[in-house]
Amino acid sequence: MSQFWSDIVKNLTPYVPGEQPQNREYVKLNTNENPFAPSPKVIEAIDHFDRTLLKRYPDPEATKLRQSIADFYNKPLNQIFVGNGSDEVLAHSFFAFFKKAKPIAFPDITYSFYPVYANLYNIDAIEFPVQDDFSIDVNSISENTDGIILPNPNAPTSKYLEPAEIKTLLKKHPNKVVIIDEAYIDFGGESAVNLVDEFENLLVIQTFSKSRSLAGLRIGFAIGQPHLIEALQRVKNSFNSYPIDQLAIVAGQAAMQDVDYFQSCCDQVIQTRAWTHTQLQALGFECIESKANFILAKPLKHDAEKVYLDLKENGVLVRYFKDSKISDYLRISIDTQSNMKTLIDVLKSVL
Ligand SMILES: *Cc1c(COP(=O)(O)O)cnc(C)c1O
Repeated sequence: MSQFWSDIVKNLTPYVPGEQPQNREYVKLNTNENPFAPSPKVIEAIDHFDRTLLKRYPDPEATKLRQSIADFYNKPLNQIFVGNGSDEVLAHSFFAFFKKAKPIAFPDITYSFYPVYANLYNIDAIEFPVQDDFSIDVNSISENTDGIILPNPNAPTSKYLEPAEIKTLLKKHPNKVVIIDEAYIDFGGESAVNLVDEFENLLVIQTFSKSRSLAGLRIGFAIGQPHLIEALQRVKNSFNSYPIDQLAIVAGQAAMQDVDYFQSCCDQVIQTRAWTHTQLQALGFECIESKANFILAKPLKHDAEKVYLDLKENGVLVRYFKDSKISDYLRISIDTQSNMKTLIDVLKSVL
């Protein structure tokens, strides 16, 4: 029946999300969700929400939610854009800033949604190689491009760039938008948000899905100078005026305001990550030093795909990227200490 499809749809290669199995209970270490429940303040905000209000459209500007983000980062409201998950913010950003004459650039090992958006919007992309240790050399990126995007920490390598390196990158490419996708920045990195006032070409994108335990609510945001935010608003208002529903506005606001809970969840993930790193090394894995809520680990004496399948059979789900440059590795999300102990115990029995 594909004769009904547009030429664009015929040529799409959609993103494949990590499995969300519905048939069996797994120790789920495959999609980098937060192991902890959303803040009690979020639960309270939803409990107290007047459900009869759902007959109304939400605030198209999601002002209360944006204000809570502005307050957290001490930024003016006109530097904040919100969307239905950072994936939507990323998609709008590709359309707003990257659909130009020259190609854009991103690392050859990175978030696999970037080539999908480039393909969707018919944007040429060049990949610059990460180094042997997976680090990014910011001086290796071609100047003959109309945009640059990279996650920091990078996904799925977990490699982190210091603000000084981001600054070098921004200075070298003053005439194009540089997007830093900070989905994992809260697990030990320093945000580039502090560079926004200095660089008119910087857009920082973050999400509530990882460090704020709200993957199911779908909230992402961008921070940049007002001219960049205005471009995103133009795209959003040409696509869907109400991407953030009423529950997401009140719950997201509560999540942003509960700084102590957020910090304590991140701290626990960081501690458990260190424990897991040590345990995996002792079991013969080579682990990349991580600043994210996952570890990229290579079983040195075993086939990675076999380990993935053995774990799955024993009720532990991790992410394996077949046919990729990291097909010797497993990406393991950091969960509660007790679930990570289960992982280590199962690994001891299957290896
Ligand atoms: C998880 C992730 C996102 C998407 O997050 P959502 O806000 O849930 O859409 C974006 N970028 C990277 C690198 C991610 O890992």
